[in-house]
Order: sequence, then structure tokens, then C-alpha cells
Amino acid sequence: MQRGTFQLMKSVNKSIILNKIRTCEPISRAQIAKETELTPPTVSSIVKELLEQGMVYEQKKATSMGGRRPTMLYINKTAYYLVGVDAGPETMNAIVTDLGGTILGRISYVLNTPITEASFLDVMKQSINEVVRLANVKMEEIMGIGVAMHGVVEVATGKSLYAPNLKLTDIPIKEALEQEFCVTVKVENDARAMALGEAWFGGHGDLGSMVTVNLGRGVGAGIVTDGKLFHGAKDIAGEIGHMTIDINGEICECGNHGCLQTFATGPAIVRRAQRKLAERGAEHSFKLTAESVFELAKAGNTLYVDVLEETGFAIGIGLTNVIHIVNPEKIVLGGGVMKSEEFLLPIIKKTVNNNALTEGAKNTEVKVTKLGKDATVLGAVALLLVEIFDSVLG
Ligand SMILES: [Zn+2]
Repeated sequence: MQRGTFQLMKSVNKSIILNKIRTCEPISRAQIAKETELTPPTVSSIVKELLEQGMVYEQKKATSMGGRRPTMLYINKTAYYLVGVDAGPETMNAIVTDLGGTILGRISYVLNTPITEASFLDVMKQSINEVVRLANVKMEEIMGIGVAMHGVVEVATGKSLYAPNLKLTDIPIKEALEQEFCVTVKVENDARAMALGEAWFGGHGDLGSMVTVNLGRGVGAGIVTDGKLFHGAKDIAGEIGHMTIDINGEICECGNHGCLQTFATGPAIVRRAQRKLAERGAEHSFKLTAESVFELAKAGNTLYVDVLEETGFAIGIGLTNVIHIVNPEKIVLGGGVMKSEEFLLPIIKKTVNNNALTEGAKNTEVKVTKLGKDATVLGAVALLLVEIFDSVLG
């Protein structure tokens, strides 16, 4: 089961039927035909193929009424397995899941910097080999590898164009992994992968549109519409970290003034706290971190409460802009900064409510992710699930 599997899936009708079974199982052939408007013979012959490939299985339904028991179809979740990799900047995390996203094994390596391209790829290959071994599955049963890579990624070629924290450029991830493992490889920016992971595994149901924002050392975001990532014309859609919040504000690493990133990252929170302390002529004897700002705020120190509330206000302004451009059904927030949820979320919601244009926009649901750290690595797996279950490529 190598590259060819994806080719086999690449029939529109097959994708429609497979997706129908995935979302509605258990389901009968007759129901599939009725709900997809495909003819019963078409459904029968495609289901036969799927049964032969082992992607689905059938079982007679138990009925208490007696009479003929209909044969129901189910996705065979353990027919194949998938590998997801969350690559950098500090660690390399890899998981193996079944087709339902259940994690069967995981591993994490620390990335020692400075690192060369060759050793970065070596750690990646080693983590994949090791996690497959730990999950107790055979490499032949792996259907594909999804990689969530920090930094700028060229999706079509699966290349990491620029990984700022590792100081590496033009890493041919897809090429290297396909050569090594002979399976389909998908590479995506980590914030976007996280958004996809949230959409597939976050328990949000069948949402038409969702924006996920990761607030950590940087600000990344992903826009998911109808279960797929939205990239925009030149792959820049969702770069909300560099949305201007204050045209006279602090200079960002991108060279512009007052980007959301200059307000809403862990380091930005620390800088603002230090500035406030300096204004008061006060100083801290220990090294201030975003965590300690949160702890000090929790202890009732108003200077730190103010810092977090200002952060929440800036995030709220940014999200209001997002709502006015994308108008998503839901916004999900994640990342280390959201550990300060109790201070941030109320003011974020209040700001959206005060600033959004219409009643509907004001009430856009804003939540904190429940997936935690796994959202990104599960998103790497979801890059493949989108292909398997939703591929409509000819
Ligand atoms: Zn910027």
C-alpha cells in the first residue's frame, strides 16, 4: 500500500461515498444512493472496490423486529495508519494514528541548535521510524506522512522555504521523506496544520468556516472552510500575526509598526511588563517570563493584570478585523499565551462585542482549544485525511 493508494482514492464518486460512510456510519448501500443521488449500481460497484481495498467493512444490522436485516457499511479505521510530524522549532514530535485519528504511538526529540539541514532531516526520519516501531505497525501499513513545519512552507512542493528559529532555508522535506519511505507526504505550515487539526478533531461538528489562532512565541493562524485549508492566491491567507493594530506602534520583526505580534506573543507580554516596571522605577530580581506575568497577575498584582488585559484588548481588536474579513462561524484560540485564558478571554470577548459591526458578528463564538498541544500534530495527520476522504482531484 504505497503511493498508489491515493491514486485509487482519486475518483470523485469514490470520495463522495467514502466520505458519506465516514460521516454517517453505519449506513446501507441504499441510503448512500439516496443521499448522494448516485445510482444504486454505481454505489454497489464502488463499495465493492472499497471492500476489496479493505477501506470499509460490512456487518448485518441487528433488528428486534425480525425480518430482513440490512447490511451496514463502516470505515475500517485500522486498515491503514498515518504518521503526523510536528517539526520544530524546539522539538520534533511524531505520532502514528489510525484512520479515525486515534493515537497509537508518540515520540518527541529535542532539536539541538544550531542544526544543519541534513541533521534536521535525519532527526525527522529517525522520529518517523521510531514512532512506527513504538506503535507496533508495519511500515507497509503506513498510508502517508503529514508534516507540520514551523515557518514559511511552499505547500505544492512540500518545501520549507524559511524556518526562522532554526535558521534554515529551502529544506526539501517532501522530497526527502518520499525518497526514504515511498509514501505520500504532505507538508504544511504549523499554524495552518493546527487549524486543520482543530477542524477535524476539535469536536466542532460540521462547521462551514473556522479560524484558529495560535498565540505563542509568534502568532499564526489558519482559515478552514468546508473542512479544507484556505491558502489564498499567493499562500499568505491567515497571516494575522502581521495585521497592523497600531500604525505608530512598536517595530515588528517584519519591519512594520504595531503588528498583532508586537502585542500578543509571550515575549511581547514580557516586554510590556518590563516597560511598565521601568516606568515605575521598579525592577524584578528574577527573570520575567510570560508564565510569571500570569502567576503575578493571579496573585493580584495589578500591574500584571493590566498587561494581560491590554494583551486581551489587542487580540480582541485583531479578531474583530478577522471577523470583518472572513466572518467565520467560530474562532478557536490556542498556544502558550492562552494559558492566561482567565485574564485574556473575557476582555477578548468584550472587545469583539464592542467593536464588531452587527449583532451576528458581535456574537461570533470565541473559544480556547481543548486539543492542547496535540492540535498541531493531529493537524499533520489531517493533511492526509483530507486527501483520503475528500479528494476530488481527477
Ligand atoms: Zn509584523
